[in-house]
Amino acid sequence: MRTPLVAANWKMNGSREFAEHFFSDLNLEGVTSDVVICPPFPYLFQVAEAAKKNGGFSLGAQDLSQESSGAFTGEVSASMLLDWNSRYVIVGHSERRSLYGESSELVAEKFVAAQMAGLTPILCVGETLEEREQEQTLQVIAAQLQAVADLIEPTVWKQSVVAYEPVWAIGTGKTATPDEAQAVHAFIRTQLADSGPEVQILYGGSVKSANAGSLFAQADIDGALVGGASLDASEFAEICRAAV
Ligand code: 13P
Repeated sequence: MRTPLVAANWKMNGSREFAEHFFSDLNLEGVTSDVVICPPFPYLFQVAEAAKKNGGFSLGAQDLSQESSGAFTGEVSASMLLDWNSRYVIVGHSERRSLYGESSELVAEKFVAAQMAGLTPILCVGETLEEREQEQTLQVIAAQLQAVADLIEPTVWKQSVVAYEPVWAIGTGKTATPDEAQAVHAFIRTQLADSGPEVQILYGGSVKSANAGSLFAQADIDGALVGGASLDASEFAEICRAAV
């Protein structure tokens, strides 16, 4: 059985004061899923401290460098994330792919850098609206997964999480229907070789407490990667509670 997982991606939002309020408001009573909070880099320490104090969730980062150290101004390595007790790191978010030109090959290198250091990568995949309309969804996702598969042994998928985030559903209020999402999740599982049954596959894109239950009821949806709704502690806790 796969444990459900709900991850908060705060993106470039928040402040020290915001984080302070968030954790004083966060009540994870009744939550049985794994919970991960991914703040911007400057707040990793603060969230790590809150995790120690409150418990019930793990720390994640939103990105990392594929390099381990050296003259790479502005970059953050896997070992630095581990230093602050991060357990997870998002790689290949569609905003990194589209706004910062990250190719699937670079994303794959970041995935490997994370795993080699002992972090669990949360690999984001997903199609644009245009790709969906041209019925290329599955090819696009297969290619995004293949770039990683080219660099790893098939069994290594087990130490990772995959997040299906249709680009057209991110921050738009439009969610894939549970059936649409399930079809893609089932496909992703078939692409993960023998590891498929063990990998947590999350859905992301306008998830909120009102739609979480129907998404999580699908056989291959093991939780969510939550953007906007993760900035509200009680709404986020409701989503976590729906993941059983
Ligand atoms: P929203 O939940 O704001 O649509 O964002 C989804 C996302 O990109 C999470 O990584």
